[in-house]
Amino acid sequence: MPLSKHQILSGWGNAPAQDCVSYRPEKKRELQLILKEHQGSLLARGMGRSYGDASLSANGVIRTERMDHFIEFDPSRGVVRAQAGVTLAELMDLAIPRGWFPANIPGTRFVSLGGAFACNVHGKNHYREGDFAEHVQSIRLTLASGETIACSPTDKSDIFWATAGGMGMTGIIEEITLQLKPISSASLKTNTYCVKSIEDMVGAFERYRDSADYMVGWIDHMASGESLGRGVFEAANHITTGDGGMVLSEFTPAPTKLKVPVFLPGFVLNRYSMALYNRWRFKKYTVDPRSEIVNFNGFFHPLDSIGMWNKLYGKRGFFQYQCLIPETPDIASKLRHFLETVHQCKGFSFLAVIKYHREGKGLLTFPLRGYSIALDFPNTARVRSMLPKLDQWVADHGGRIYLAKDAMLTPELFHKMYGKSATEWCEQIHDIDPDNRFTSMMSERLQWKNKA
Ligand SMILES: Cc1cc2nc3c(=O)[nH]c(=O)nc-3n(C[C@H](O)[C@H](O)[C@H](O)COP(=O)(O)OP(=O)(O)OC[C@H]3O[C@@H](n4cnc5c(N)ncnc54)[C@H](O)[C@@H]3O)c2cc1C
Repeated sequence: MPLSKHQILSGWGNAPAQDCVSYRPEKKRELQLILKEHQGSLLARGMGRSYGDASLSANGVIRTERMDHFIEFDPSRGVVRAQAGVTLAELMDLAIPRGWFPANIPGTRFVSLGGAFACNVHGKNHYREGDFAEHVQSIRLTLASGETIACSPTDKSDIFWATAGGMGMTGIIEEITLQLKPISSASLKTNTYCVKSIEDMVGAFERYRDSADYMVGWIDHMASGESLGRGVFEAANHITTGDGGMVLSEFTPAPTKLKVPVFLPGFVLNRYSMALYNRWRFKKYTVDPRSEIVNFNGFFHPLDSIGMWNKLYGKRGFFQYQCLIPETPDIASKLRHFLETVHQCKGFSFLAVIKYHREGKGLLTFPLRGYSIALDFPNTARVRSMLPKLDQWVADHGGRIYLAKDAMLTPELFHKMYGKSATEWCEQIHDIDPDNRFTSMMSERLQWKNKA
């Protein structure tokens, strides 16, 4: 029997934490032995960068960090085949000097390919490039029986799309074959400027959506009244070396400049320190667009330069709340109402990020056409009583929350948010995993596998 040990694990938000039986297989043989010998249910876990309880299971987690080999890379077509434990950071280090780039990447590069597929992650270009899974040619998935199957958008596509965004509920993704996109320099040209309100922010997204490769807004969440939603809007495009971009071979991964060594006392991040931070963050920009040539690290992964920044929130941890509000002609007033609701509940977020999306693919994929807002809240009693109210607001407005960030949603609101596709997905995962071999704290909380 492969070695297991008890470990206290948590997602990136450190809330909740759970004592888990944990395995770290390296070889396929070990993985199959675990599936055969382990009593009880199991769950794949990548880098633990989902925030809530999606990667936790007391019964047994299979950590994929040692399943981390590249299998094939075709530099003429930009197609890479790799084990699921390879991280996006490792993929970028391989691909960028050779002129290729992942079609979409989340806000940290320290995620595994398996985790990126299982959450079907999105980037700042979702409105253009769609979800992670839309660029995956095929996966190899090990089912509860130990059998490994290949599936793709054209072969066993129902299993492929139940696994994309399927939060580990169909099996263990072992391998992923991914199509990358060509780039000709390791830089972007950004246009950054201050916006005065949420209405201005929406206007900026509308102005740039046809021309920008990437768009993101940083909201100063302390602002209220007419200034509610003010912040900084950033649009970016890939450029060539002829336009001043960095030669691909000179690309270097971002060093981690600073590491938060211990959990800070919870009170360090308070309304006042957050207000100061926001003032500092935004003072560099004016209402006139400022054009800069920037490297990938600073634009895509600003937080990765601070190691273990999640410890800033103290031992009790924090919640990241990311919701999607569908686009309607009155979208700016809906976003305003949502932000007002957060303020009325006395919720103040250190970071508030807004992105634009198109409809995603896959049954449980988060994006719809509309805007997502991501907010970070400390884990306090007040916040725990606020989040269900926000969930209700989002569900009542036809929106949904992102499961990769969630720790508190109820089964009722999950079904209200994800609708018919959630019912269909629950039926499919029951067919793929009839004995409920794959479960998580999230699947138990949301009662995904409770079918008689
Ligand atoms: C700073 C930061 C910024 C982020 N920004 C974004 C963003 O911009 N966009 C976005 O979409 N997300 C974002 N995220 C969330 C993150 O990208 C996703 O949660 C990602 O999937 C985490 O990957 P992981 O390897 O850490 O997976 P884990 O957190 O370990 O697992 C997540 C889920 O995937 C399943 N899983 C993992 N590996 C496998 C496997 N091999 N087989 C089957 N199931 C598996 C797990 O069971 C679990 O349900 C961000 C997270 C952080 C910390």
